[in-house]
Amino acid sequence: MNEIKKVLITEEQLKARNAEMGRQITADFQGKELLAICILRGSYIFFSDLTREIELPLEVAFMHAASYFDGTESSGKVNLPDQNMLSVKGKDVLVVEDIVDSGRTLSALKATLLEKEVNSLHIVTLLDKPDRRVVDIDVDYSGFIVPDEFVVGYGLDYNQRFRNLKYIGVLKEEVYQ
Ligand code: 5GP
Ligand code: MG
Ligand code: MG
Repeated sequence: MNEIKKVLITEEQLKARNAEMGRQITADFQGKELLAICILRGSYIFFSDLTREIELPLEVAFMHAASYFDGTESSGKVNLPDQNMLSVKGKDVLVVEDIVDSGRTLSALKATLLEKEVNSLHIVTLLDKPDRRVVDIDVDYSGFIVPDEFVVGYGLDYNQRFRNLKYIGVLKEEVYQ
C-alpha cells in the first residue's frame, strides 16, 4: 500500500508473538476461567488472534473506549459508553488493548472495572509506546515496544482506515498533513 512509509511489525512476527503470549497467559491462569474483554475498535483483530492461543475456559466481552481522538493526538478525555452492560463481578478479567500511548484509556478503564468488584484484573496490550506516557499504568503482558510514531494496521486506524492491514506500519506524513 503506497500510503505506508514502512512496515514495523510483520504478519509473521505478530503471529509468533501472539502464540508466545497465549502460552504465557495459559500457564499463568491454570485452573482459572478468564473473562477476556476486547477494547473496541482497535483491538478486534489482536483479540481474535490472541484468544485462540489461550487454552483455558474463556468468556468474551466487548467494550468501546473512545478517547476523542482528533487526527493523531488523543484529547485526554475517555468515554466508556458500554460500562454498565458488562457483568464482571467476581470474575478474573483480562483486558485486551491495542496500544498504550498516554496511558489514559487504560487507567480510566482499570478504575471503572475495579469499582465493579472483579476478582482479578490483568491487562494485555499488543503495543506499548512508552515515550508518550502521561499516566502511570502497569501492563501485565505487552507484545511489542514501538517508537513514538503513529502506527496503523492489524486493527489500528487512522480516521477509520487501515484497520484491515495484515501488518503494523507507519503512515507517510503526507497522509495526515
Ligand atoms: P492512550 O493515549 O489513552 O494510552 O491511548 C488511547 C488510544 O489511542 C489507544 O487505545 C489507541 O486506540 C489510540 N492510539 C494511540 N496511539 C496510537 C497510534 O500510534 N496509532 C493508532 N492508530 N492509534 C493510536
Ligand atoms: Mg485502543
Ligand atoms: Mg483509533
